[in-house]
Amino acid sequence: MSQSAHARSFAPPADTGGRRNLVGLSRTEMEAEIAGLGEPAFRARQLWHWIYHRGATDFAAMTTLSKDFRARLADTHVLWRPQVATAQQSQDGTRKWLLRLPDGQEVESVHIPEEDRGTLCVSSQVGCTLTCRFCHTGTQRLVRNLSAAEIVGQVMLARDALEEWPSPAEGRQLTNLVMMGMGEPLYNLDNVVKALKIVMDPEGLSISKRKITLSTSGVVPMMARCGEELGVNLAVSLHAVTDNLRNELVPINRKYPLADLLTACRAYPGVHNARRITFEYVMLDGVNDSPADAHALVRLLRDIPAKVNLIPFNPWPGTAYACSTPAAMDTFAAILMEAHLASPIRQPRGQDIMAACGQLKSASQRLPRTARSVDTLAALEKEKPLPADTAEEGL
Ligand code: SAH
Ligand code: SF4
Repeated sequence: MSQSAHARSFAPPADTGGRRNLVGLSRTEMEAEIAGLGEPAFRARQLWHWIYHRGATDFAAMTTLSKDFRARLADTHVLWRPQVATAQQSQDGTRKWLLRLPDGQEVESVHIPEEDRGTLCVSSQVGCTLTCRFCHTGTQRLVRNLSAAEIVGQVMLARDALEEWPSPAEGRQLTNLVMMGMGEPLYNLDNVVKALKIVMDPEGLSISKRKITLSTSGVVPMMARCGEELGVNLAVSLHAVTDNLRNELVPINRKYPLADLLTACRAYPGVHNARRITFEYVMLDGVNDSPADAHALVRLLRDIPAKVNLIPFNPWPGTAYACSTPAAMDTFAAILMEAHLASPIRQPRGQDIMAACGQLKSASQRLPRTARSVDTLAALEKEKPLPADTAEEGL
């Protein structure tokens, strides 16, 4: 399926009829929306500030706007963000939210606190069409793409939970963002671009592109656009050094083999030694973790400004894989280090609540096309509580 056909088939429900959501609109769209209410452009800037800097969820709180305008806004618009279906906290402080979307679908976001920063792992799709063999999300069929509001809403929801409104300039608990949750972000690039431009806007959520990393399984034709339009850091899920093995582990490799993927990496806009591409490599016992694999990896990345992130495999119920032994991981890392390839072993976080890389999965099921085009806000208004068994299923 072409990228545009994919985007059409898995589009989020259209936001038609009823009150319209202001969250997720670009600045230009916000201005047009406000102009439609007969108000000048500076009102859109005020709204932007209230929504993305102050985190307002209610027009009534927007005290710099006239009472009359606030009342009119409340009649015609809403400030929607995802609803928390369940919230969990790991022993290591990692927090995971299962979020409910207006049409009843669900996605997960994870906040990982560290000493000097806090990273939010954001989802781009409900499920994933790409069936990487070691990934729990890959066992859940793709239901649909997330809208820009649903992507930016995950960041706002985290700010709510961390009590970080107004967006603090210093001492934030949410400093970094990784597009590494459920889904393949480059299969939903239009909405990801729209959402991240809002996230990066200095007068709002204000997370700089240097603190944002987008991870892709290797959707080669979309990589340049990601660099040109967003300029964020790129992470590539490599996981194997031969086409044979990568075809099996990361099936998109059959479409975009290693040679094409590495050519796209070399050409990634803005890539240089100070701004390297991260190659993610999941450590699978007896599958891709031999010293010979490590040497082949060094050769493969020889002429690319690269660093390697070794990810201990995170198990999930029913998987056929096991994580490499600590000794195998150390040997592998040492070979890369000897070749001056920075290669930290990623410390698994939130494993006890199934929040670590590749463990996310929500209970959503594929809906028929007709049900997917429901009016999100109409659905929102008659939102009903989730049945108890759907909230935890699959976790
Ligand atoms: N779809 C994108 C981003 C989400 S996955 C991608 O594939 O890049 C984020 C990272 O977690 C990817 O590198 C992915 O390969 C890795 N991953 C998936 N399942 C995993 C697991 N069970 N253990 C460790 N890492 C995993
Ligand atoms: Fe999808 Fe990424 Fe999981 Fe592969 S690793 S199935 S691309 S979420």
